[in-house]
Amino acid sequence: MSQNRKPSNDNHLRVLLVDDQLMIHEVLRRMLAEADEFELACCSEGVRAPDVAREFAPDVILQDLVMQDADGLELLRQYKADAALRDVPVIVLSGNDKADTKAQSFALGACDYLVKFPERVELLARLRHHANAHLALRQRNAAWEELKHIAITDRLTGLYNRWYFDEVYAREWLRARRERHPLALLLLDVDYFKRYNDYYGHQAGDVCLQKVARVLKDTCRRPGDFAARYGGEEFVVVLPDTALANAVQLAQLIRAGVAALEMPHAASAVAQVVTVSVGASCMLPRDESCAEELLREADRALYRAKAEGRNRVATPPVPDGA
Ligand code: GH3
Ligand code: MG
Ligand code: MG
Repeated sequence: MSQNRKPSNDNHLRVLLVDDQLMIHEVLRRMLAEADEFELACCSEGVRAPDVAREFAPDVILQDLVMQDADGLELLRQYKADAALRDVPVIVLSGNDKADTKAQSFALGACDYLVKFPERVELLARLRHHANAHLALRQRNAAWEELKHIAITDRLTGLYNRWYFDEVYAREWLRARRERHPLALLLLDVDYFKRYNDYYGHQAGDVCLQKVARVLKDTCRRPGDFAARYGGEEFVVVLPDTALANAVQLAQLIRAGVAALEMPHAASAVAQVVTVSVGASCMLPRDESCAEELLREADRALYRAKAEGRNRVATPPVPDGA
């Protein structure tokens, strides 16, 4: 791939030329030389075009149909089959003026067809038109991703928020039931946090929550592990396909991790530093059981950890008579 030397800029319209004749590269380079809204990359090996396109991320592809090492129509097919490339507009730039070749190109997803060699003003207008449409799509997607991130993230801690937890938890529950896997939950609560706020101030309290969240992020690292802020100074962790003993182990790591931060907590009745209590629960979801049950169990376990002295991990109390 040879590229002209303009620095990569997010507002440039990125044009990828795929043609095995270097002469064509030169012609296009000259045509675009004074149109500085474009950033041009040229690929002379048709077989490498999809790879080059994935790397360069063009806003428009300008492509020959007949190349020594590749069939341009086949390349159109490959772009469409590739999630990263299927939305990139492709303008065919062909020596062939036949109606059925044009029809085939459009049927395979080309958005435009030019016969070599169009006038500069026409070529630029079409490049601009198609590339701008793609750029707008790219910007819309980026804005959408950002909105989605904001919608599911807790602002203070950067963990997922309660709203997203509800969604993920319901999904994981159904999946565990379908796949007959155990599902575990951890419910975490900072000990004597009201006193912490009263003693050190609300802002220090916020920083404390951020540090606890950091421990959660660093400890729950298995793909599928899901940590969220449940509300206030409470956090929740969803652990798919995890047995109770393993959930308890992870809970102990989190508990120890928070204590190891050694954040002074002069008002705590259980330690001189900030600590957390954790309730762990686990269930093999069945048709007749419901997701709320497991959550309730985690809550009872947390209550037990608090009642038994805080700064500890507990499992749900065994019901009387069981
Ligand atoms: P326990 O050991 O039984 O959990 O006692 P606690 O004081 O931690 O429990 P309680 O539920 O009485 O107090 C929770 C406190 O958490 C009260 C509330 O002001 C504080 N809090 C909740 N959300 C935030 C927050 O976003 N930032 C700060 N700084 N404090 C918060
Ligand atoms: Mg609480
Ligand atoms: Mg608390």
